[in-house]
Amino acid sequence: MTIPDITIEPPRLGEPYLLTPGPLTTSYAVKEAMLRDWGSWDDDFRGITLEIRTRLLDLLGEGKEEFDCVPMQGSGSFSVEAMLASFIPLDGKTLVLANGAYGLRSAQTLKYLGRDHTLLDKGDYLPPRGDEVAEILKDDPSISHVVAIHCETSSGILNPIEEISEAVYAAGCKLLVDSMSAFGAIDLKPSEIRYEAIVSSANKCIEGVPGFGFIIARKDELEAAKGNSHSLSLDVHAQWAHMNKTGQWRFTPPTHVVAAFLVALRLHEAEGGVVGRGNRYFENRDVVVSGMRELGFETLLKDRWLSPIIVTFFCPSDENFIFEKFYELMKNKGFIIYPGKLTAVDSFRVGCIGQMDENVMLQVVAAAKGTLEEMGVTSAAPPAIALEERAKLAA
Ligand SMILES: *Cc1c(COP(=O)(O)O)cnc(C)c1O
Repeated sequence: MTIPDITIEPPRLGEPYLLTPGPLTTSYAVKEAMLRDWGSWDDDFRGITLEIRTRLLDLLGEGKEEFDCVPMQGSGSFSVEAMLASFIPLDGKTLVLANGAYGLRSAQTLKYLGRDHTLLDKGDYLPPRGDEVAEILKDDPSISHVVAIHCETSSGILNPIEEISEAVYAAGCKLLVDSMSAFGAIDLKPSEIRYEAIVSSANKCIEGVPGFGFIIARKDELEAAKGNSHSLSLDVHAQWAHMNKTGQWRFTPPTHVVAAFLVALRLHEAEGGVVGRGNRYFENRDVVVSGMRELGFETLLKDRWLSPIIVTFFCPSDENFIFEKFYELMKNKGFIIYPGKLTAVDSFRVGCIGQMDENVMLQVVAAAKGTLEEMGVTSAAPPAIALEERAKLAA
């Protein structure tokens, strides 16, 4: 692969590309859909809500008939909280599988909710494995639910959700999945992976703008959720029952965001659905990973664990490399990257999701090349300790 010298096209509308895992760069059509006002009680808007729910269910594929979709106002974390509070009964006990910030956030949410839980904390990025989960569930028969993160966006790891699901159901427990950053780009077919509920939001792989999330759950779980929630506004059962009865959201919906999301879903379908969207993201990832490696950068994760959502790179050990400066110079070239979240070593992240293709990713690599030159960084190689870290991860 030859990395071109930097020839950045002006970013569209003069704004930089967001190489961040949501909010992300949306298409012009999605932005344009927000130029009109909607009455939330009006038939037209109710039609939008219904089409969104139907289209989201369609993304499940085979087995979708047993599920329903409940949109919920707020950012993704509001929907996670709504899911946990609604589907875990007050006397349930939950095992949270954490290998990054979002797993820990679920555990923290359960603490706020006063729901009994135990945590498997694998640190910054090591994946929770099926056999470990089986072991924990065997040792503690009081556990009723397991919460797993599909793609842990803080490192970019794609967790082994299939083997986790197998262990959970072999032990007679129920699985709830935070698929926030993966849903819409990575299959989660109920015919292949068992779960009770998943959660995602408008501003991730469907490429909408932020403002609401959605819970997709088995209808029998939705029925059984009545009375579980501690919260009026986050009660998934109440939102579901009201929406089915009236076609409306219980409280003011983010109307413009919802209208834009419908356009985003239609574009998602036009791209070939989950497979088409996923393929573009895989290509984005492959181009940025091979290009950055060619510049001397190293990824935190070995290839087997790299998701097509976001990639963590180690910061170079070269003393001329200062992340804040790298960030500014990349931004000047039209690319907003994302600081890393590792505790032991410095890192940064590059998102692969949003309205970007392999050509944009090639420009990202070119921008990184030019930026290293401007900073006087001669080697992008990470410190030895970073590679020792990575060695802990199975291939
Ligand atoms: C984005 C994200 C969330 C939700 O974050 P918000 O900032 O509340 O939208 C939750 N879990 C994962 C894995 C995410 O990537």
